[in-house]
Amino acid sequence: MPRLADVDVAVVGAGVAGLGAAATLRAVGVSHLVLEAGARVGGRVHSTPLPWLGETPFEHGAVWLHSAERNPVAAIAEAQGDALTDAASLRQECTMLDGRPATEAELRDYAAAWPRFHAAAEALLEDRADARLCEVARHLPDDPWALSVEAWEGPVIAAADADALSLRDWRTNVLTGSDLLVQGGLGAFVRNRLAQGAAVRLRTPVRTIRWGGPRGGVVLETPAGTVSARACIVTVSTGVLAAGGIAFKPALPAPTQDAIAALPMGAALKVVLEATDADRFGLPPHCSLDRQARTSGEPFMVFQCWQHGQAAVQGWIGGSAARALEHEGDAAAVDFARSQLRALLGSGVDATFAGGRTLVTRWSRDPLFGGAYAYAVPCRSEARAELAVPLADGHLLFAGEACHADGLAGTVGGAWITGQNAARTAMLALRRAA
Ligand SMILES: Cc1cc2nc3c(=O)[nH]c(=O)nc-3n(C[C@H](O)[C@H](O)[C@H](O)COP(=O)(O)OP(=O)(O)OC[C@H]3O[C@@H](n4cnc5c(N)ncnc54)[C@H](O)[C@@H]3O)c2cc1C
Repeated sequence: MPRLADVDVAVVGAGVAGLGAAATLRAVGVSHLVLEAGARVGGRVHSTPLPWLGETPFEHGAVWLHSAERNPVAAIAEAQGDALTDAASLRQECTMLDGRPATEAELRDYAAAWPRFHAAAEALLEDRADARLCEVARHLPDDPWALSVEAWEGPVIAAADADALSLRDWRTNVLTGSDLLVQGGLGAFVRNRLAQGAAVRLRTPVRTIRWGGPRGGVVLETPAGTVSARACIVTVSTGVLAAGGIAFKPALPAPTQDAIAALPMGAALKVVLEATDADRFGLPPHCSLDRQARTSGEPFMVFQCWQHGQAAVQGWIGGSAARALEHEGDAAAVDFARSQLRALLGSGVDATFAGGRTLVTRWSRDPLFGGAYAYAVPCRSEARAELAVPLADGHLLFAGEACHADGLAGTVGGAWITGQNAARTAMLALRRAA
């Protein structure tokens, strides 16, 4: 097998975590190479222009810089002078119940339901090590909005069903503060800013990692040849790791394998529907359209309508319903989105979206990801920190959104931090081994 490179640090994956690691290594002149299986950088941050959506590209994955006040990627965007918009300044909300828009009083009650939900979650965790997210609403049986908050916080935001998700992990990672939009889109920002100058080899899937060699050495095998490194940072998703997308020789230790199993991938699906007539159903631009949820676990699709002047809506759904739709295929997902919109807005939906173009995302079907982002199963919120525990005295490291244990799991900001942390740990290991 030809030898592709000999570097101090090999990084597997050119998503945000891999780019974060590369930026840290580059800043101090440590030789490195990022090996990326796909044909592009950015991983789960990916935008493509869709001429029928106008000038704003479509973001297949991440859109916002969440929790901007504690998000280092937001700080980079600010420092670079990128125009940032607080999503809250654009967002309009419309909630339907019983086939009509909620009244002002109902909306006030809905807004107050979020702090009620959080307080109930807090109270549950005072007495118990952990619980499932779905247990919170059961403690609020008279709250008409508790299941709607559950549907947002579980499937829509955490990409996981409320009965599968660790309440403690959810509490740790609740998004706070501002969600910022970068002008030109997050996909372009990652390509043009975070990936600038990164040493990346595309279309080079790592199949095997032989680790624990002399002085911690690592050999990565790809179809194009091998890369020898003194340390290796693996940033692929837990979906890829759990599916055996990379063979580790020797096998990973049991605690690392357990951590991977405790952090399965959630699913999140976006369905874009183009409107072909002028009816906007009285909904303003940037309208977030949802409804009152009635039962725990019911498929719950929310819609982002008429964003950036686009003649289109985006339906978003998460959890097992999203995974099932994705595997049924694009036509099933489009039908589902149309039927959900019809239930919310009436039969006029059929005429408005008749013959319109559609787009369905496919993160769960893509073997390079295996889902949207990782969630912790009940009683295993510490798995995130366990996955990030350095192996081979810091010569084999895991990074990526699943590894962030401090409140930004599942996000771009969390992925970037873990990549940088892993790079610093690798550099210390190299110094020790020198
Ligand atoms: C629909 C959706 C919406 C989201 N919305 C937001 C949001 O608004 N804000 C936010 O902060 N976050 C959001 N996220 C989450 C965010 O996108 C991720 O947390 C983050 O991008 C993960 O980065 P990563 O580097 O950890 O992993 P990845 O992006 O998965 O990077 C890993 C890379 O490894 C590559 N790879 C896989 N296998 C191999 C192999 N064998 N060899 C070499 N390379 C390999 C992959 O191709 C990928 O490029 C969203 C995600 C999705 C899917």
